[in-house]
Amino acid sequence: MFESLSDRLTGALKDLRGKGRLSGADIDATCREIRLALLEADVALPVVRAFIARIKERAKGVEVSAALNPAQQVVKIVNEELVGILGGETRRLAFAKTPPTVIMLAGLQGSGKTTLAGKLAKWLRDQGHTPLLVACDLQRPGAVTQLQIVGERAGAAVFAPHPGTSIGGGDNPLGITAADPVEVARSGIDEARTKQYDVVIVDTAGRLGIDADLMAQAAGIRDAVDPDETLFVLDAMIGQDAVSTAEAFREGVGFTGVVLTKLDGDARGGAALSVREVTGQPILFASTGEKLEDFDVFHPDRMASRILGMGDVLSLIEAAEQHFDAEQAEATAQKIGSGQLTLEDFLEQMMAVRKMGPIGNLLGMLPGAGQMKDALANVDEKQLDRVQAIIRGMTPAEREDPKIINASRRLRIANGSGVKVSDVNQLVDRFFEARKMMAAMAGRMGMPGSRKPQR
Ligand code: GDP
Repeated sequence: MFESLSDRLTGALKDLRGKGRLSGADIDATCREIRLALLEADVALPVVRAFIARIKERAKGVEVSAALNPAQQVVKIVNEELVGILGGETRRLAFAKTPPTVIMLAGLQGSGKTTLAGKLAKWLRDQGHTPLLVACDLQRPGAVTQLQIVGERAGAAVFAPHPGTSIGGGDNPLGITAADPVEVARSGIDEARTKQYDVVIVDTAGRLGIDADLMAQAAGIRDAVDPDETLFVLDAMIGQDAVSTAEAFREGVGFTGVVLTKLDGDARGGAALSVREVTGQPILFASTGEKLEDFDVFHPDRMASRILGMGDVLSLIEAAEQHFDAEQAEATAQKIGSGQLTLEDFLEQMMAVRKMGPIGNLLGMLPGAGQMKDALANVDEKQLDRVQAIIRGMTPAEREDPKIINASRRLRIANGSGVKVSDVNQLVDRFFEARKMMAAMAGRMGMPGSRKPQR
């Protein structure tokens, strides 16, 4: 995500490194580079102008400071301004005082609304909410079925008219025709009240382009359901068109927040950087793939440091917190420090790390990873699978005390896990080496349970 912008910006700022003082010419040159980088990223022109003016103003006022050299101060300023145009503080979803909270989704066809409805439902469920999805996209063939499918995946209920029939069955007691999305929306809210769902997510129809009918329909649904949040769903890959689309929706329907989708395919970042400034509304969530899990709250500060190649250490820490058991991690740290790590511990740790996602993605969150892209692309998940298979082929006693793994055991393990004896040898040798090295490192870092490294 945002690779090309990130490369260019880090490039522009790198030139400042090592300079003890910054001249006016240095600042001008850097600002010129940043400006080009933003324009190339499809950031809207007024946003670029305002951004550069602020950087210039603040960079000129940079004083010599004890903590940071001038170049670092400029990086800090650019980072702060990036956080600013991305929205500043993380904006959380607003819930209604009395349930149900109504969230309406609006956006062009294909922007990812239906997919988002599923993601949002799963995210809400994970936090203990009981969402109801309401299918008001009655235009696109298959949209209702698609919502039913994502709802099922997310474990959330879906309220939808039966395709081609009317709500309420054959005799149509509710007097609603399936073709009327406003009525479906209204009955969806009633359903949530009766059955006590605490959040209602209303999926609406989009068109390929902006048109008056679309806006009128969305506005009609809005008036019928009186949403607590109207989320404008924006495909980040549409580039320059993002701004005009966002403006049209702001005028036609109005919205309280933005969800950026398809950030995984967006190397440039123009939509993300423009939409807040242009519409005045914050970005609440970001979608980064087709799967339900590829979704998260949007954090302007984390996104800014990611763009500047400072990694996304906070996201990594959060992912780690979610997937690691603190007590177990502590116990492992003790074992590492005292040089008593076993292959069983190693296997457990490896599985915990891999649960967080593909290793390449995790490494991508680390600072400086921008420059390591090629290496990351080569992280071989298959190799990791092989290591897991070998350890699984060992008996508990062997995992606990790898020293007992003699030649005949190695042959048995190799045969059992479908690898060569040399692979087993390599794994065991490396494990001993790594265990020694980690214990020594832990000693130097004063980790709990560690001994001073042996000389
Ligand atoms: P809708 O017409 O607005 O309801 O859009 P859909 O939810 O049907 O999404 C359109 C297409 O975009 C589908 O093929 C989705 O799988 C895909 N899609 C949605 N969100 C993302 C995302 O964040 N990343 C990627 N790569 N694809 C997405």
